[in-house]
Amino acid sequence: MGAILINNGHVIDPAQKINEICSVLVKDGKVAKIGKRIVKPKTCTVINAKGKIVTPGWIDMHVHLREPGREDQETIATCTRAAAKGGITSICSMPNSGQIADNQAVVEFIVSRAKRDGVVNVFPYGAITKGLKGEELAEIWEMKDAGIVGVSEDHRDVQNLALFRMAIKYCKTFNVPIICHSENENLACGGVMHEGKVSTYLGLPGNPASAESSAIAAQIILSEEADYPLHFTHVSAAASIESIRCAKKRKIAVTADCTSHHFSLTDEACLGYNTAAKVNPPLRSEKHKNAVLKGLKDGTIDCICTDHAPHTFRDKYVDFEHAAFGIVGLETLIPLVITNLVNKKVLTLRQAIEKVTVNPAGVVNIDKGSLKVGMDADITVIDLKEERVVDKNNFESKGRNTPFDGMKLKGWPTLTMVAGKIVMKDGNLRV
Ligand SMILES: [Zn+2]
Repeated sequence: MGAILINNGHVIDPAQKINEICSVLVKDGKVAKIGKRIVKPKTCTVINAKGKIVTPGWIDMHVHLREPGREDQETIATCTRAAAKGGITSICSMPNSGQIADNQAVVEFIVSRAKRDGVVNVFPYGAITKGLKGEELAEIWEMKDAGIVGVSEDHRDVQNLALFRMAIKYCKTFNVPIICHSENENLACGGVMHEGKVSTYLGLPGNPASAESSAIAAQIILSEEADYPLHFTHVSAAASIESIRCAKKRKIAVTADCTSHHFSLTDEACLGYNTAAKVNPPLRSEKHKNAVLKGLKDGTIDCICTDHAPHTFRDKYVDFEHAAFGIVGLETLIPLVITNLVNKKVLTLRQAIEKVTVNPAGVVNIDKGSLKVGMDADITVIDLKEERVVDKNNFESKGRNTPFDGMKLKGWPTLTMVAGKIVMKDGNLRV
């Protein structure tokens, strides 16, 4: 593999406290040098990054691959192509596919298929309980052996707290990160959107904020008791974020992420029975969205993810109550972060990049998220000035279920590199 010099970009690598104009030399798939005056090797491809932002490859710690089992919705090939197009170099995959990743065989399949078809790095999570049924623990140790980087009961939370407590102890023994989808099912009670004025207006059953917040409060108590960290994914409610803030103040080792749709939209996106905005946890009211923004700003929310959840046209083209939950996000993450967080001064560029590089890498213990010399050359280049309208028909993902279609967003990825290989340039895939 020939050397590549990414020249004179504005390099932001929070893990190394780099935030300046400099160059990155890539050799044999690794970061070879980073600095101001790098002598160009004799045979070397030069990429002029002047005026662009150069960051460690973005990590999306909450993605639904859909393979194995629901290849009609997405495959590992299409999902990782979507990630590459969106400037994301590593994705962590949730276990709730058609075939649930609750055993070694499914995890081994994902790992080997990702090696064969994957354009970006795939790090699978395993289920906490068998079949996500919440009845008995899944084969967590065997799955760790097969390559999981954490466990999660995404889609359905573990309702039995005694079992969840046992899972924490088990995971602590084997040092397996736990990614919590926090939701009390009795309170959620079949709600299809946030319970509030908009759900009343539309006459739809609501899922109250307390369904999430009460579950998080309980899980924080279990985390403290077991002295083991928990990570709360897609937090969406004000009281949830306040609980996490208090827990952190009390030095309880919890972390959290939010999705790009929860910091961008409110439940008003569901008006007109817009099934593209149907998602779980639901898009909430302005008050909750503002709490998410505040949580991002003060560091209560450590990471940003997409919860990329592709669905077929038929999954979504039904009445709101029966439509599937989920939004695709891989191809809109970067422009949403730049447009809605950086350009609106919620986060500095450095803070935003921290939440998609070094922070998620730390939560799931992967050797990613920085441009340290010797690390895999996973790199994202962003043009902050590029303005474009989201066109779902141009997605690499099979999913078209986005509420952002037609929106003009600013700040798009122009290059994605995975282990020294350019997989996307100027919006075009090279694989
Ligand atoms: Zn979830």
